[in-house]
Amino acid sequence: MGLFSKKKKPDEQPPPAEPDTRPEKKGMLQKLTRAISRTRMVLNRRVLGAIGLGQKINDDILDNLEEAMIEADFGVETSEFLMDLLRSAWKNGRIEATDDILPFLRTDLKQRLTHRGNAVKFADKPPTVILVVGVNGAGKTTSVAKLAWWLEKSGHHTVLAAADTFRAAAVEQLKTWSERIGCEIVTGAEGADPASVAHKGAERALEIGADVLLVDTAGRLHTQKNLMDELRKIRNACAAKKIEGAPHETILVLDATTGQNAVNQAMMFKEAANVTGLFLAKLDGTAKGGAVLSINEKVEVPVKFVGLGEKVEDMQPFDADQFVEALFDLEGLTENPEQA
Ligand code: GDP
Ligand code: MG
Repeated sequence: MGLFSKKKKPDEQPPPAEPDTRPEKKGMLQKLTRAISRTRMVLNRRVLGAIGLGQKINDDILDNLEEAMIEADFGVETSEFLMDLLRSAWKNGRIEATDDILPFLRTDLKQRLTHRGNAVKFADKPPTVILVVGVNGAGKTTSVAKLAWWLEKSGHHTVLAAADTFRAAAVEQLKTWSERIGCEIVTGAEGADPASVAHKGAERALEIGADVLLVDTAGRLHTQKNLMDELRKIRNACAAKKIEGAPHETILVLDATTGQNAVNQAMMFKEAANVTGLFLAKLDGTAKGGAVLSINEKVEVPVKFVGLGEKVEDMQPFDADQFVEALFDLEGLTENPEQA
């Protein structure tokens, strides 16, 4: 508050009307902080609390920190990843005291999470085609609905293609979402060729001048060859409708609660398909939200969205600054100790 309460001289004009995004940003940060509270508390209270401040870093302190991270069920991968960062930062003199750890992680992690670009790449000429892939149960269909809701809300007229034709229930699930969101959906009969649904979707998107075509896919693509064949067919279906460069985004949905498994899936999909972004679903249901860090590092594909619950509003475009702030939200911890 203090920052903004500086008194103005009476004749001083306020700066030109920039839209004030502060309340919205603050709301988003609160929502994110709440959603990843399980991860946040583990990190702050049990891990950073364990080492104490005001000490010169030495091997013992780093070993204790590592132990505390693992004990706190922070995930072996994430603990190792963070410890590697800290050990090399200590060796090359970027950090010296325990007080340096948090500021260092804040800066370094933000940089790592943003340098590949987190924004959706839209086609120069609409429609933008976004293919959504991932294993069964990862959260694809829900994430497609969330994306549709977010796109519509930001003025992008969206068509859905229910190309998971293996189960009638999957089509029904997406249909229900489309009705709630108020966007059009293209479906095929159960067992229909998924590419034919993508084709119909592309046709419809062009017909009505939609901005975005979102294609939901089946998760039953156990082998790389199946996956590649399926995705190639869907790509060709879009190409047949002369949508240049489609799909413009291939978003891989990962279940954040699965930790290392999510990393393995991501590597498999990355090899089979040209994955351009990650949608990390179910961040709300895990104390392992730090997996974002190791996934980002290992998979080398930017996180573009996070899923924070089961409703369409429970998502956010990934904002690395906010994510890191929410992860290290020490203030939030002291303000709301009862949430622990
Ligand atoms: P699909 O098989 O990949 O299409 O997965 P679904 O979209 O059907 O989702 C599987 C389950 O995960 C459903 O019960 C969803 O409600 C749930 N789910 C998806 N995303 C999230 C999320 O971000 N948070 C939580 N808590 N649940 C989610
Ligand atoms: Mg599905």
